[in-house]
Amino acid sequence: MVRLILIGPPGVGKGTQSELLESRHGIKPISTGVIFRAEIDAQTDLGRLAKRYIDHGRLVPNGVTIEMIAKRLRLPEIRKSGFALDGFPRNIDQAEALDEILIENDLAIDRAISLEADTEVVVQRLTGRMGCTKCGAIYHRTNKPPQRDDLCDNCNSVLLVRSDDQPEAIRERLRIFEENTAPIIGYYERKSILKRIDATRDAEEVFAEILEGLTL
Ligand SMILES: [Zn+2]
Repeated sequence: MVRLILIGPPGVGKGTQSELLESRHGIKPISTGVIFRAEIDAQTDLGRLAKRYIDHGRLVPNGVTIEMIAKRLRLPEIRKSGFALDGFPRNIDQAEALDEILIENDLAIDRAISLEADTEVVVQRLTGRMGCTKCGAIYHRTNKPPQRDDLCDNCNSVLLVRSDDQPEAIRERLRIFEENTAPIIGYYERKSILKRIDATRDAEEVFAEILEGLTL
């Protein structure tokens, strides 16, 4: 059983690697984006709270996000399958909160993976990206086109280019990553669980390197 954190700027391929980890080794992805949607759809208290922020174009506060993650990490099936955190932690406060959740649940992270790529590469990858409005699956016009135009292969729902995948928004998201999230790379380096991977290569090569040395 493997427990991972995937760190990297938007567009670096975290989602693709999460999907491979799940489909080939049953390692469950824990993605804040997917969790927000699930909690909102289920109309839980946390979901209703998160929706108020998202509807106003604001970031969901740390406390709400952390509680949602804690809820997932307590699930017996997640403990059994292992997991790959994607999109969390996104700042040092969340990284510290995660450490507490892990201790409370007697869990430890095997490895924090830093997927690294030049800005131009990620900008190019993000341009043309489309997301499923229902299940959250991600496609790309050239790299990973859906079988039918603008429809999700999984659930047949409509695909949309998210407003935050527009070019100006992409630059802003990269700036926020550098400012808030990049510091957690050093945080895990100091804990000696960091592995840096060149994510500009083929997804299969990146995947092989993520798994290298891990006991599955
Ligand atoms: Zn879908």
